[in-house]
Amino acid sequence: MAEELNPFKIAQKQLEDAAEIMQLDKQALELLKEPQQTVIVNFPVEMRDGTVKTFTGFRVLYNNARGPGKGGIRYHPEENLDTVKALAAWMTWKTSLANLPYGGAKGGVICDPKQLNDKELENLSRGYIRAIANFIGPNVDVPAPDVYTTPQIMAWIMDEYSKLKGANEFAVITGKPLEVWGSEGRFDSTAMGGMYVLREAAKLKGIDLKKAKVAIQGFGNAGMFAMDLVTKLFGSKVVAISDSKGGVYCEDGLDFEKLKEVKAKSGSVQNYEGNNVRKISNEELLESDVDVLIPAAIENQITGDNADKINAKIVLELANGPVTPAADAILWEKGVLDLPDFLVNSGGVIVSYFEWVQNLQAYYWTADEVYKRLDTIITRSFNDVISTQKQYADKGKKISPRTAAYIVAVSRVVATMKVRGWIH
Ligand code: NAD
Repeated sequence: MAEELNPFKIAQKQLEDAAEIMQLDKQALELLKEPQQTVIVNFPVEMRDGTVKTFTGFRVLYNNARGPGKGGIRYHPEENLDTVKALAAWMTWKTSLANLPYGGAKGGVICDPKQLNDKELENLSRGYIRAIANFIGPNVDVPAPDVYTTPQIMAWIMDEYSKLKGANEFAVITGKPLEVWGSEGRFDSTAMGGMYVLREAAKLKGIDLKKAKVAIQGFGNAGMFAMDLVTKLFGSKVVAISDSKGGVYCEDGLDFEKLKEVKAKSGSVQNYEGNNVRKISNEELLESDVDVLIPAAIENQITGDNADKINAKIVLELANGPVTPAADAILWEKGVLDLPDFLVNSGGVIVSYFEWVQNLQAYYWTADEVYKRLDTIITRSFNDVISTQKQYADKGKKISPRTAAYIVAVSRVVATMKVRGWIH
């Protein structure tokens, strides 16, 4: 039977698996298996030639028991409701696992941002936010950037929402430029959070990161900062890196600045040259003989077909959904410590939370303060996952870190829904 790759079905299956192990009652599972609110909007956008085109957008509020919805906005030609619903579900677990006072949400617009000029992109962003304005707000649902949406777009959205409300509403959205009160430290917060998790995971596995070999799939926002930080913070050797065109491998380690240059000049890291450097495919990258594998590109990369060929001791899921449920089980059997996306890449939303807190207080922190608080929160999340795994092991149930993370996250949401009287 073909492996299920519909993201929402995967999200539901992951929840069901966790629900079974934690013996979650039916009423809670029923409520958590579907989003609380799904908004679909069609809105007009004025194009460069003066014509008006209609675009379709979504905003899904998955659950808001623990606080306002939180989650990014994606602009993508293949955006669809199931993807947005899955990502909104994962945001619910991500904010809960980090113990942030938020629920989960996600939004998107079906469009090809590469075909739009700046003015059209601005018109589209303002149009989208006018269409969903009644469903967002600092205490309702707080969006952020995601695929193909930028700090500039966040600034336009904040501005449009403020005009509608007749007051500056900086806290309506995060991921803003510093000029409109974005947070220090946000640009590399996802990768930085991943590094704090890696530090703890390496301690647990007895791996000396100074001597560790690392492979990273993806050289975008997440993967590039991960490469820079893993070498700077721990002195690890990044031996393999890739992007959508393919990758390179060098046993002696790859040079970050040179890779950046090659990527900027030629469009791909694959054109990196040097002694002992060879081209590899993305499949080879995933299977390379390293201590740490960091998938930082796209979803469904480690599947039932290649999971048994993974050689890394730690898989650090910086991308969203890079490991399918079938692969998850195989990695777990093999003794690979596969750390789930909604723990590893939660640094982005944690610093988004800091931005919102700073906006609400109108009092701003230094980058050092931001990183220190990020470390505290994400290390606490890691420890919550590992101690939950231990608690279950003591009861004779062996569970993976992903299942443990689900249990921590879902338990918190359920406990809040119970106290609020939503379920019994
Ligand atoms: P990005 O668009 O900046 O970079 C993506 C990278 O992946 C590019 O280098 C691209 O060439 C590469 N890529 C695309 N298809 C590939 C393929 N088939 N094989 C190998 N490489 C491929 O995106 P990003 O912001 O770095 O995000 C990467 C992942 O991390 C996504 O899953 C995203 O959801 C997740 N993530 C990112 C952030 C963040 O703050 N940037 C936060 C949370 C999660």
